[in-house]
Amino acid sequence: MIERTVAEISTALASGDISSVELTQAYLHRIEQYNTDLNAFITVCEESALEQAKAADKSRSDGDCKPLLGVPLAHKDIFCTKGVTTTCGSRMLQNFVPPYDATVVEKFNAAGVVTLGKTNMDEFAMGSSNETSFFGVVKNPWDTARVPGGSSGGSAAAVAADLCAMATGTDTGGSIRQPAAFCGVTGFKPSYGRVSRWGMVAFASSLDQAGSICKSAEDAAMMLNAMAGLDEKDSTSIDKATVDYTATLNDSLEGLKIGIPIQHFAEGLSAEVEQNILDALKVYESLGATIKEIDLPNNHLSVSAYYVIAPAEASANLSRYDGVRYGYRCAEPVDLEDMYKRSRSEGFGEEVKRRIMVGTYALSAGFYDAYYRKAQKIRRLIRNDFLAAFKEVDIILGPTSPHTAFELGAKSDPVAMYLEDIYTIAVNLAGLPGISIPAGTVNGLPVGLQLVGEDFAEAKVFNAAHQFQKNTDWHRNKPDLTGMES
Ligand code: GLN
Repeated sequence: MIERTVAEISTALASGDISSVELTQAYLHRIEQYNTDLNAFITVCEESALEQAKAADKSRSDGDCKPLLGVPLAHKDIFCTKGVTTTCGSRMLQNFVPPYDATVVEKFNAAGVVTLGKTNMDEFAMGSSNETSFFGVVKNPWDTARVPGGSSGGSAAAVAADLCAMATGTDTGGSIRQPAAFCGVTGFKPSYGRVSRWGMVAFASSLDQAGSICKSAEDAAMMLNAMAGLDEKDSTSIDKATVDYTATLNDSLEGLKIGIPIQHFAEGLSAEVEQNILDALKVYESLGATIKEIDLPNNHLSVSAYYVIAPAEASANLSRYDGVRYGYRCAEPVDLEDMYKRSRSEGFGEEVKRRIMVGTYALSAGFYDAYYRKAQKIRRLIRNDFLAAFKEVDIILGPTSPHTAFELGAKSDPVAMYLEDIYTIAVNLAGLPGISIPAGTVNGLPVGLQLVGEDFAEAKVFNAAHQFQKNTDWHRNKPDLTGMES
């Protein structure tokens, strides 16, 4: 049962084939077996999970039939969870126990899910490999010598290894889609504003977006049904009606216009990954879609613009960690300045400090116009490219990542790591919805296919992804975990 999709689990729970308690026990057992090696979870909430499962079974027998009732989930450790440590992958928040739940957590609780625990992640969501976590690297279940991708690598590895049925993630520049691609699972980032950011530890506020990591587009639609909506506690959440995202999953793709950005099929893309994406296009053509090349002429500037804007926002957001109110405080400070300095130097890891320095520099009086303002102008050009493309096509399709999962330690140069997000970052700069779905393998490692939609066209993205999954089995592929049990 644990290998099934959320939709299938939901049906099994409804028919009484399995109880939430049985299911929760199975996942907890699986976590016990495999988490030592994979390191996908930072915190496991065994006791409360079983209590929630019991309560869910009880509500069900009382007639409650919410679709996610009793389905076990894991939250990325960036979401504040009342009474449960929320580390954001950092020493700075190692002992931080929030007094409240993030809106996303509250909404999933209201949907009746069982929370199994909190998943590992790159420190403050900065990274593409899950190697920057204070709690150690996460390993890719397909090959433990390789990274799971980042920053939501714990969530992706946990879903891939069936340690949970579904997980939350956040995506600032690719952190849901890229790990989903590397781990052979489905990862969805909604349009900016669709899901509340309240209670999510802030990295780059104009880019951060909560989303889902799961086993199918149908599951992602079910998860968005639970997560989406206006939240008055987040002024950037949008006042726009949500729909039932599962309602149009089975619409025909006859006449769907798919755009292929020429820039995504250029130098740097692995030939084998490219072949998988071209094969996927054939599936779409057989379903009645038409294919058209499109131009995203400013895409090559996306990584540079992002690495000015995101660090700038991070430098402001992370100024709150001063050792005074909460978070890590150095031992025996001699004065206030010493406390600030040492708390931050000792509490933050290397990559986080690099971002704070870059961001502070980019925002400083002498360089603001040259870097920050210019990056914002480029951001607008990038968004305009997408808007122009969507005048001609309904969906944009391409690879999620230029290659499959790389080996642990392979990218020691920060710029090489930053270039990992070459196909995903522009989507965040433009605020659009995007999904990564498994679409093949290269040497036994999963390949991710990215679909991007117009502003708030989440339902259309799910529809296109679901139709592919109905006609292929890549999302059913499982890593072989033999020999990994502890
Ligand atoms: N890899 C990108 C970064 O390091 C994106 C991270 C994210 O989406 N949170 O900033």
